[in-house]
Amino acid sequence: MKKLTKKELEKFKEKLTKQREKISGEVGRLTKDYLRKSAMDSSGDISSHPFHMADAASGAFDTEFNIGLAANEQDLLYEIDQALRRISEGTYGLCEKCGTPISMNRLKAVPFARYCIKHQESKEKEEGR
Ligand SMILES: [Zn+2]
Repeated sequence: MKKLTKKELEKFKEKLTKQREKISGEVGRLTKDYLRKSAMDSSGDISSHPFHMADAASGAFDTEFNIGLAANEQDLLYEIDQALRRISEGTYGLCEKCGTPISMNRLKAVPFARYCIKHQESKEKEEGR
C-alpha cells in the first residue's frame, strides 16, 4: 500500500478541521444549554417552578441526552485533535500499533482512525464493545 500523498493529507486535514469546527460549535451550544437549565433548576423551589411535573421530567431527559451527546463529541474532538497532530508529525494514516498504512477507504469513512482494521477490532474486543 502506498503512502498518502501531500495532496491527500491536505484533504484529510481540511476535512478534519471542518469536522472539528462543527463539533466544537455543537459542544459549546450544548454546554451553554445545560448551564442555562441548571441555573434555572437551582433558582428556587419546585412549587414556584412554572412547569408541570411532566414537563420537568422530559426536560431532565433532554438534559441527560444532551450531556451524553456532548461527552461523545468531546471524545470525537479529542480523536480529531490527535489525527491533526499526526498529520503535522507525518504519522497520519499509519496504525499506532503496527505502523501499517490504514486503507484509504477506512480513512475516508473514519478520517481520525488510529488503527488498522486488525488492531481496531482487537481494541474493540478489549473494551468489550
Ligand atoms: Zn495495526
